[in-house]
Amino acid sequence: MGQRKASKDGDRKVGRRALLIGGTVAAAGSAVLARDELARLWWRVPGVEKPRKEGEVDYAGARWVAASDANWRRADRPDDYGIDMVIVHVTQGSFDSAVKAFQDPGHKAAAHYIVRQDGHIAQMIRELDVAYHAGNRDYNERSVGIEHEGFVDRPQDLTDKMYEASARLTARICARYGIPVDREHIIGHVEVPGTDHTDPGPHWDWDKYMRLVREARTAPA
Ligand SMILES: [Zn+2]
Repeated sequence: MGQRKASKDGDRKVGRRALLIGGTVAAAGSAVLARDELARLWWRVPGVEKPRKEGEVDYAGARWVAASDANWRRADRPDDYGIDMVIVHVTQGSFDSAVKAFQDPGHKAAAHYIVRQDGHIAQMIRELDVAYHAGNRDYNERSVGIEHEGFVDRPQDLTDKMYEASARLTARICARYGIPVDREHIIGHVEVPGTDHTDPGPHWDWDKYMRLVREARTAPA
């Protein structure tokens, strides 16, 4: 999240694709459809989409709490969109307030995960799906978003337990999708093009975080 400018985290530009999926695919004809558009639609054929189970998590250390489906878009990643990025956020509020915000259909933003200061992790959106957390459609489609409980101007909020739990989660995400563990692929919300958000803020210790991710990445799963 960041500066509570929730609308910036939104991703409402789904009109064209929604229209195509809405039944005009055949009428539009394949010549009209861009190649990548087709690639992103094929899995919507019944029986092709990956099976889902209610309450299932992508990370064994996380507990499922569903976000409002107004705050994310159904997809079938990494088959329709490749995942090559993890985006780090700080909530600018408590863990509970972030959970509540992501359950609110009016919030127009949510991340896949929220890490609490004691290391507890909630997953609110499946990695299959596109969460509206980066305020940039391309970055939303290609990333997994992780929120961290706290305020950017309070270094004491960034606890060791939170860093460690988050680093283990990020290491697993990188392992599953073959994402390089470097600062090109593990970035802060502030580094997303076009954003006016400042999180995770100046107190986020990137050297420490990246070291923890690398350690977790090489540790036996
Ligand atoms: Zn953010």
